[in-house]
Amino acid sequence: MIVVMSRNATQEQIKNVENKLLSLGFNTHPIYGEVKTVIGAIGDKRFLNTHEITSMPGVECLVPIMKPYKLASRELQQSNSIIDVDGVKIGDSNIVIMAGPCAIESAETFLETAIKVKEAGAKILRGGAFKPRTSPYSFQGLEEDGLKILAEAREATGLKIVTEVVDTRDVELVNAYADILQIGARNMQNFRLLREAGMTSKPVLLKRGLSATIEEWLMAAEYILAAGNPNVILCERGIRTYETATRNTIDMSAIPVIKELSHLPIVVDPSHAAGMWKYVGALSKGAVATGADGLIIEVHSNPASALSDGPQSLRPEKFAQLMKELQAVAAAVGRSI
Ligand code: PEP
Ligand code: MN
Repeated sequence: MIVVMSRNATQEQIKNVENKLLSLGFNTHPIYGEVKTVIGAIGDKRFLNTHEITSMPGVECLVPIMKPYKLASRELQQSNSIIDVDGVKIGDSNIVIMAGPCAIESAETFLETAIKVKEAGAKILRGGAFKPRTSPYSFQGLEEDGLKILAEAREATGLKIVTEVVDTRDVELVNAYADILQIGARNMQNFRLLREAGMTSKPVLLKRGLSATIEEWLMAAEYILAAGNPNVILCERGIRTYETATRNTIDMSAIPVIKELSHLPIVVDPSHAAGMWKYVGALSKGAVATGADGLIIEVHSNPASALSDGPQSLRPEKFAQLMKELQAVAAAVGRSI
């Protein structure tokens, strides 16, 4: 439920209401709006005597949150969440581009690509050190050595880094290196992993599961938020459908739907959606035009030799060209890149 405080409620009254809710076993999430403060109260309200709260000084009313996800819902927070990744803001009028190879393969090639994506205008560098591969015989990533290469590339370029964590046992390690923890599509409903990521203070890029509904995806985000981490960035990366012409089917509708249902930012991964580099440009433009807050694009200096996802990776020159083209699309929808 949402406790709406009146316009002129004092800090002390807000604190008293929060303390009361805490004493009744609720978790509280105050949101200080420009006009009013509201307190999200998450817990079991079956035994709550609502009068106990509504009669408190400074309380205007109680509003139930009808959706099964609470902290992720627009009902609780009307203004868009802007996630601050160590100075790079995701969710405001600027569209943030994340780019880099699927996996970190070597220090040299990774740094070379990092420099190129930065020159083209990317703000965040991607690269997997722990790779969730369909086959156990495929390249699984360089693990901590890969994280070290990521940190070196951040040092050299100033780009922030996003990298995937696939196991609860690695959250602490990945958290020590990454600026954004990525939770991959295959782990979207790994609830222990979501909780663990929720106990860190790093922004979390939560990819949509291969066959997850938007509601299931927002419930997954709720796990992270409920564990205490408000910094969730949703990522649409295509879903499984009967179509086989592309690797996955990008769900562009998810962008406006998420914008209506949630205050969380949404970025789009056209690379895993398409599965082929030649479609990445069109899907990127479509996502920006549809309202995405960012893109995460796979870029590799020599896709033919990539250890994972070469066919869907753009060469750095193609990526630079796309970045130029995206500026016009962003401008057409009142945003910048
Ligand atoms: C990735 O970004 O490298 C990745 C494995 O993506 P997804 O979880 O969306 O398949
Ligand atoms: Mn990949």
